[in-house]
Amino acid sequence: MKVLVAIKRVIDYNVKIRVKSDETGVETTNVKMSMNPFDEIAIEEGVRLRENGGAEELVAVSIGPKQTQETIRTALAMGADRGIHVETDDEVEPLAVAKLLHAIVEKENPDLVILGKQAIDDDSNQTGQMLAALLGWSQGTFASELEMSDGKANVTREIDGGLETIQIKLPAVVTTDLRLNTPRYASLPNIMKAKKKPIDESSPADLGVDISARLTTLKVTEPSSREAGVIVEDVAELVDKLKNEAKVI
Ligand code: AMP
Repeated sequence: MKVLVAIKRVIDYNVKIRVKSDETGVETTNVKMSMNPFDEIAIEEGVRLRENGGAEELVAVSIGPKQTQETIRTALAMGADRGIHVETDDEVEPLAVAKLLHAIVEKENPDLVILGKQAIDDDSNQTGQMLAALLGWSQGTFASELEMSDGKANVTREIDGGLETIQIKLPAVVTTDLRLNTPRYASLPNIMKAKKKPIDESSPADLGVDISARLTTLKVTEPSSREAGVIVEDVAELVDKLKNEAKVI
């Protein structure tokens, strides 16, 4: 079995996001970037499948600017066998990402593609579903457990009010939820080994995909700041304020 994992380079989740003064987007200059957390979980799941004999090859794919190679190296240090980098400086919307991944899947013929359920920068939660639709493959989204058996995957999904387990046929697309696993840290020897693993380079044009934007961002603004709270003396004052000021009871 061959597994392909899609990883995105995003602003690190610990960074306080700053909006650009011209309101065209968020500041990325000199900002720490990392692998999207849900994609770390996707790589970890791929590495586990590779380690327990379920998968023979694990390929990490990323679309983005030159520095995206660092993110691919992290995936290689975690245990992926090789990388594919589609280089572009343009912002790539989920549909264009799905089309690029579609083109790569046609070349690579994996049995399973794992993506994060969402990228924490655009919060779109679209790419995996769009990729499955373009390929005409089964999909198991928001996976909190994945079990492979006999050309099938049992995917336990986090849904409103509980867990749902579905069985899908391979080839399939799976997207990861937070509780699927805890990603490992790459060890120093593995970071060194990852430097020698191959990364294949291409461009959207090489893959024959038009990535021009279909959406126009009108403006990006900070959320309005919250008003300071007040400390009340007793329950009676709280009830009075809720009734007469906030008018919520
Ligand atoms: P989104 O639909 O943008 O929320 O992203 C969902 C998932 O699609 C991410 O967790 C990644 O697995 C994948 N993905 C999105 N953008 C990229 C990208 N530029 N390169 C590789 N994978 C991506």
